Amino acid sequence: MLRNGTPCVVFDTRSPQRLPEEFRGIEVHWQIGQWSAAQLRESLSDIGRLVVSPGLPMDLAILLEARNLKLPIVSDIDLFFEATSAPVIGVTGTNGKSTVVSLVGHIFNSLGQACGVGGNIGVAALDLLAQPREQYVLELSSFQLERSAVLPFVASTVLNISDDHIDHHGSMQNYRCAKLRIYRGAQRCVFNRGDLMTQPHAAEQLASFGLGAAADANSYGVAQSKGEDWITRGDEPVLPADQLRLKGAHNLLNVMAALALVDSVVDVQDAASAAAQFSSLDHRFQFIRTLDGVTYINDSKATNVCATLAALQGIGPSERTILIAGGDAKGADLLALAPALAESVAGVVALGKDAAAMSAVAAAVGVDCVQVQDMAAGVVAARRMAAHADMVLLSPACSSLDMYRNFAERGEVFAQAVHRLSSESEV
Ligand code: ADP
Repeated sequence: MLRNGTPCVVFDTRSPQRLPEEFRGIEVHWQIGQWSAAQLRESLSDIGRLVVSPGLPMDLAILLEARNLKLPIVSDIDLFFEATSAPVIGVTGTNGKSTVVSLVGHIFNSLGQACGVGGNIGVAALDLLAQPREQYVLELSSFQLERSAVLPFVASTVLNISDDHIDHHGSMQNYRCAKLRIYRGAQRCVFNRGDLMTQPHAAEQLASFGLGAAADANSYGVAQSKGEDWITRGDEPVLPADQLRLKGAHNLLNVMAALALVDSVVDVQDAASAAAQFSSLDHRFQFIRTLDGVTYINDSKATNVCATLAALQGIGPSERTILIAGGDAKGADLLALAPALAESVAGVVALGKDAAAMSAVAAAVGVDCVQVQDMAAGVVAARRMAAHADMVLLSPACSSLDMYRNFAERGEVFAQAVHRLSSESEV
């Protein structure tokens, strides 16, 4: 907006802040939450439309007034579509968004088709336009989708839906409705057969992915061929699952979703070969080191119960795992972890605001648990418990914000503590 010379006015609910240089000369109204309806109406009188930041509640007084005045309310993603005619792929879901978006970008870029990757990950959508690309893939949150009009994606997906951010959306139904908006203008809708909450109400071109046999010729599934598990498109084998660098059943789903998103544009076999070479992003089931026969894995990005369940389900049945978990559970019911703890976890190290709740879940299924004050103590405790285990896994099932700036800082503190451990043979 600023860059293309459109005149704008800024409305902010906060008290006056220092603004970046590029805001110089722009009219800014602060603390608009305290304005009367008449004041708001007056200040909106010469406004053409409102671009709303994803963080703001939709029942904010200024937005209610704007609706009364029939002013269009749009998001940065609407502006993005106005500014480019390149094909755009959209990805949302509770978990796996960053992995799938990065994977789609990796597939295109490996095949020599320049792809801009951004949105809710890395570069903001509008900033991507500074370097025009042949196509784009955007990660979108339910907050962004809630504020967007019909978005004309070439392909879009809702990867999965579980109860994260219900605090904002009020109910699972509202959260799901916000997510499903990603399908409204899409030419091709890709959904998860194992999670029917992700299925669009109506779509012209539909494709799906899931761990069972593919549902139709456009869809992806997993089937046995020559004694191995293969990803298939319809009945056609595409790639043996164990050739993927990404590990775990959840990542198999992520790969199939990425293939389904790109397959009307690139050759499926080429896309699959590129996908096989993609390694995990930092803090997502990321290998840190092996010490005295124990592998240390950083899955700090698992900020909700479903993500930790996915990590635990991806671990082989014969592997014994010590789980470091806890943080701020954001009101979620940690008891949902109990069956997976009973099945594949030999010990739990609990930390953070909800350490006691995490400990109670471990106790409920008879799994040893210790509570610690910080990550350094957690890693030392996990190592002690791991004497007869194969893996120490940081997969907290909780947000990091009670102890860290973000999940990345939590993962880095974990990795540093792991690197500080010395081998038993050196002790
Ligand atoms: P997001 O961007 O949606 O947060 P990420 O790709 O960063 O997703 O992965 C976040 C966490 O969710 C990871 O730690 C991983 O363990 C878990 N995860 C990744 N893909 C899936 C999936 N398809 N289903 C469930 N959990 C997943």
